[in-house]
Amino acid sequence: MSLRLADITLTYPDGDTRLTALDQVSLDVPGGSLTAVVGPSGSGKSSLLAVAATLVTPDAGTVTIDGTRTTGLPRGELTALRRHKIGIVFQQPNLLPSLTAAEQLQVMTRIDGRKPRAARNRAMELLDSVGLADQADRRPHQLSGGQRQRVNIARALMNDPTVLLVDEPTSALDHDRGAAVIDLITRLTQQQATATVLVTHDRTHLTAADRIVEVQDGRLHLPAPAR
Ligand code: ADP
Ligand code: MG
Repeated sequence: MSLRLADITLTYPDGDTRLTALDQVSLDVPGGSLTAVVGPSGSGKSSLLAVAATLVTPDAGTVTIDGTRTTGLPRGELTALRRHKIGIVFQQPNLLPSLTAAEQLQVMTRIDGRKPRAARNRAMELLDSVGLADQADRRPHQLSGGQRQRVNIARALMNDPTVLLVDEPTSALDHDRGAAVIDLITRLTQQQATATVLVTHDRTHLTAADRIVEVQDGRLHLPAPAR
């Protein structure tokens, strides 16, 4: 259970030239550990997650997930690997308005044909672990911002990923709710033994991180002193 980025360089087209979003970045995240990534806006944090999630192919370098090198994998295998091994939590929850909390999780397994009862049980188990067992039948508009983000996190864990990638999950939350969400991610990292990367611009919540790294102009600096 691990995530390994080696010598990742990523550029985007920028007029006549190219903008270097990631510059020879290497990062090793063992299972059951949480690496926090901090850095100013535009430094490359989301690009780093997109590459780790295999959603974006870098110009150079390799992404290895559970010992499988993802570079050059056929598209179908890559899609399957992403579905089974990677949980992604974006800044905005993107929940489906018409579905209950439990159903948001259950639809994740539809494609894989997990039995409906097993999917429901797993969904309830995860909602319980994020403190929302009693909200399972509520729809997004009946939940608070913090609760929606908890559903979002539980949903990312539905397929038992080995890698959990989280992008600024607290940006829409107040301080206390933000702290509770970070605590939750820390606890789930241990319980589910995920290799977790947590991007945040807010260092105040990071006492529980196993490691804090800093991105500046696409370069990774390790380790940055805590706060
Ligand atoms: P962060 O998440 O730290 O704010 P990003 O990874 O989103 O940083 O962006 C890093 C740099 O890459 C920024 O200069 C941004 O403008 C640029 N960038 C990000 N995504 C794209 C894209 N799809 N096309 C072109 N440039 C991009
Ligand atoms: Mg970002």
